[in-house]
Amino acid sequence: MNTLRTLFLNPPSFDGFDGGAGSRYQARREVRSFWFPTWLAQPAALIPNSKLIDAPADGLQFDEVIQMAKGFDLCVLHTSTPSFASDAKVASCLKDAYPRIKVGLVGPHVAVLPGESLEAAPAADFAAREESDYTLLEIAQGRTFSEVDGISYRDCGSIRHNCDRARIEDMDSLPDVLDVYKRDLTIENYSIGYLRHPYLSLYTGRGCPARCTFCLWPQTVSGRIYRARSPARVIEDMAKAKSLFPQVKEFFFDDDTFTADLPRAARIAEGLGRLGVAWSCNSRADVPCGYLKTFKENGLRLLLVGYESGDQAVLNNVKKGVRLDVAKEFTRSCRKLGVAVHGTFILGLPGETKQTIEDTIRFACGLEVDTIQVSLAAPYPGTELYSQALHNGWFQTGGMVDADGAQSCVLSYPGLPSSEIAKGLRRMYARFYFRPKPIARMLAAMARDPEERRRRLREGAEFLRFLWSRPASVRPANGGRRLQRVPEKAGV
Ligand code: SF4
Repeated sequence: MNTLRTLFLNPPSFDGFDGGAGSRYQARREVRSFWFPTWLAQPAALIPNSKLIDAPADGLQFDEVIQMAKGFDLCVLHTSTPSFASDAKVASCLKDAYPRIKVGLVGPHVAVLPGESLEAAPAADFAAREESDYTLLEIAQGRTFSEVDGISYRDCGSIRHNCDRARIEDMDSLPDVLDVYKRDLTIENYSIGYLRHPYLSLYTGRGCPARCTFCLWPQTVSGRIYRARSPARVIEDMAKAKSLFPQVKEFFFDDDTFTADLPRAARIAEGLGRLGVAWSCNSRADVPCGYLKTFKENGLRLLLVGYESGDQAVLNNVKKGVRLDVAKEFTRSCRKLGVAVHGTFILGLPGETKQTIEDTIRFACGLEVDTIQVSLAAPYPGTELYSQALHNGWFQTGGMVDADGAQSCVLSYPGLPSSEIAKGLRRMYARFYFRPKPIARMLAAMARDPEERRRRLREGAEFLRFLWSRPASVRPANGGRRLQRVPEKAGV
């Protein structure tokens, strides 16, 4: 069947903005880094003759992207809450340049707010809600909008909402994304500070059974049930990945929680061991030591672990479902086995106080994980945290990112202003990294490998610039100073 020539676009916005087609926290990072745009690559893999452009990772500007869209019948833009206004302008420029092109929006923001999004982006013809892979395939196949489940669309001046798209149950039925990566992406442009470079990330399943109130994907698009590819299919994909990308030094499974089904993860690990690849994944801080041992023996290098807070009451408030003592024991096991851990923390969750921030800093330092990432609580629409914040009046004025696209503190609590939370973030980074052990670890890695040395020096400089710049909370939000210029007319 003929399909519309379809362009999947992760649009340009803030310099270095990691905008959500693969990232969970949609912002410019302290150190330049990008996740793979997996949420666009998957439908692109379903549609023959499509193309994927990841403008932020490839450093493409607005006018270049508009030129590259020439000849396409359909353009699907991935958008996020912080970049929405800018993405709507890109949609408008596309329509100005190519009036016949159909423009669709995808991503958690439009999944939750389809009507509001179409009102705010008049150039967009439709918004695809829920899991949109097959929705986009049907549109590319030329179905009329009224026949396509899972979209909201414009019809004679009003906005219509079709019925929901059923979730995909058979994940093996989806094609792999590797051919799209190979055809359209420059994998060397993707880097994450704590992963070996070049790395490659992909999903083997979607959804997470945990109920964390702040977490974006399971509450908006991927759901509370972990739906996953069979171990045999994952191993087949990974064998292909290894042969297509021999330069990759580490494969990252970006499933919400790869360890949610431990027997399955162990079977995959055994297959990966036979393939001889280094791998890493997202995990909760409660994997039993026996499984960790199996993973380690089969190539696991690093776990990305959401600890979130060092205060049990805060963890309970956000329904994390992990006890601090279990998290400590898990981390001890990782250390004993030689599994590296990147710990992620969030400051400003409900129940946060000056004291709990201090406790979290101490907790992180005491864990002796290899690296950390500290985020400010980000109440995205569609999450329970967002509803709580609205209900309780916790929102500050201002956007989720500042003028540079860096995360901004949007919540404040009685006795804990947002500025205090933002300061806590810098304090936590400084207290964690300016200690002998992390510095020694970094120097040892740099001594081993000249490429690592160059990378660490660049990242170190970026990190120090971030620490010494003014806190996000005192910079103007969404002022657009560093937002890439969107032309009024596309001039193509
Ligand atoms: S365990 Fe991780 S992926 Fe799952 S809901 Fe909690 S934060 Fe999200």
